[in-house]
Amino acid sequence: ASNERPAASGTARSAELAERAARVIPGGVNSPVRAYGSVGGTPRFLVSGRGAYVTDADGTEYVDLVASWGPALLGHAHPAVVDAVQEAAGRGLGFGASVPEEAELAEEIIARVPEVERLRLVSTGTEATMTAIRLARGATGRPLVVKFAGHYHGHSDGLLAEAGSGLATLAMPGSAGVTAETAGQTLVLPYNDPTALAAAFAEHGDRIAAVIAEAAAANMGVLPPEPGFTAAMIEIAHRHGALVILDEVLTGFRAGPSGYWGIEQARVPSGAAPDLFTFGKVVGGGLPLAALGGRTELMELLAPLGPVYQAGTLSGNPLAVTAGLTTLRHADVAAYRALGNAADAIIGEVTTAFEAAGVPFRVQRAGSLFSVLFGEFAEPPLDYAAVQRQEVERHRAFFHAMLEQGVNLPPSAFEAWFVTAAHDDAALERIAGALPAAARAAAA
Ligand code: PLP
Repeated sequence: ASNERPAASGTARSAELAERAARVIPGGVNSPVRAYGSVGGTPRFLVSGRGAYVTDADGTEYVDLVASWGPALLGHAHPAVVDAVQEAAGRGLGFGASVPEEAELAEEIIARVPEVERLRLVSTGTEATMTAIRLARGATGRPLVVKFAGHYHGHSDGLLAEAGSGLATLAMPGSAGVTAETAGQTLVLPYNDPTALAAAFAEHGDRIAAVIAEAAAANMGVLPPEPGFTAAMIEIAHRHGALVILDEVLTGFRAGPSGYWGIEQARVPSGAAPDLFTFGKVVGGGLPLAALGGRTELMELLAPLGPVYQAGTLSGNPLAVTAGLTTLRHADVAAYRALGNAADAIIGEVTTAFEAAGVPFRVQRAGSLFSVLFGEFAEPPLDYAAVQRQEVERHRAFFHAMLEQGVNLPPSAFEAWFVTAAHDDAALERIAGALPAAARAAAA
C-alpha cells in the first residue's frame, strides 16, 4: 500500500461480476446499499483487504472508509485476528454446544460496560434488537415500542418504520410486507425532542414496553444526542415503568472503549442508566456476531431460565467469538488514539478542501465516528427531517471523484465514515490528496 494514485485498471471485472450476480441474486446484492443505488455506476467487487486498504476485482486498491460498515476496527485482516480465527477453524467450525471462548467474550464486554451484568450472544444486530424488544415486552407485559425517526435497528418488522441506513438511502419510509398491526405497535418520534417523548408517554405510557435509541444516531449521518436528551429519555421512560434499550450495534467499542454510553453517561447526572444494551459489528471482529445485555434479573428472563424464548444454531459460533474477542483485546488505548487521530486528520482535510472549493457542508461527530452532510444548515440538524434536507447530488459527484482517486467511501450520503486503527500516515495522505479534486466535483 502506498499513497500513489492507483493504476487506472478500469471496472470491467466488477461489471462482469455484477451482471453475473444480478442473474441469481436480487439486485445482485445481499444488502441493498451495496448496489450503489444512490450513487450509480459499477459497484466494486472486493477481493481482499489489508489494514486500511481494500482491493477490487480489477486489481485497483483503495483506502477504505467503510471498514465492513464498522466491524474492521483494527483494519482489514489484522494479523492477530486472522491467526486466532485460523487456529480456531482448525479445531472445528462450530458444534452447537458451548465453547470456552463465549464466556471470555462476555467477560470482556461486561468489563467495558458495567451496567451489563449478563450477556447473550446472537449472530446479527437485527437479532440483538429484536430479542431486546421481546425481552422488554416479556418483562413489562406491555405491547408498544418507541423508536426515533432515522434510527436504524436492523430489519425486524417492528423496527423498520422510518429507519435510517438503506431506507434513508433509498428514500423508503418503511417496508412492504410489514402488517399494519405490527407497524401499529411502534411509535415513531422525532429524535432529540424530549417534549414529543413526554407527550407520547402521557398518552400511552402504561402501554409502552420500551424506548429504543441508537446511543448516538449514525444511520442518518452521525447525529449525537443533544446534551440532556439521553438523560430525559431514561427519566421519562423509567417514570412510566418502561425500559430503555440503548442500541450500540454501530457505536459500541468504536465511538470509544466503552461505546458511546461511556462518553454519554457523564451527561446523565441522576446516575440512571439504560436497562438493555445491544452490540454488534466490532464485537464480532468481522464475523457474524452480536449481543444483548443488561441487569441480571432482566436477562434471566431469557430461556432457558425464563419465559422469553431466544435461540440460534450459530449463536456463539467459535470463529465469530474468537474474532470478536481478539479484536476487543487489541482495541487498546493506542488503537483508540489512532482512531481519534485518523478522524481528526480527515475532518481537518475535508474542512480545508470544502472551504477552498466553496462546498456547503457540515461535519457531525460522535467519538471517532463522523459523517459529512452536504448543504447549508442554518441550524445544526437535530433530527431526521433536518438531515434529509442535505444535497445528496453533491455526495454522488464527491463519492465518484474519491473512488476514482482510490478512496472507498460509503456509497450513501446517510452513512458514517468508518476509520480504522490502521489508517496510518500513508492512508491519510492518499485521502488528503484526493479531497481537493473531489471537493471541486461536489461544488459543481
Ligand atoms: N442497530 C444499529 C445501530 C445498526 O447500525 C445496525 C446495522 O447497521 C443494526 C442494528 C443491525 O445490525 P445487522 O446489520 O448486523 O443486523
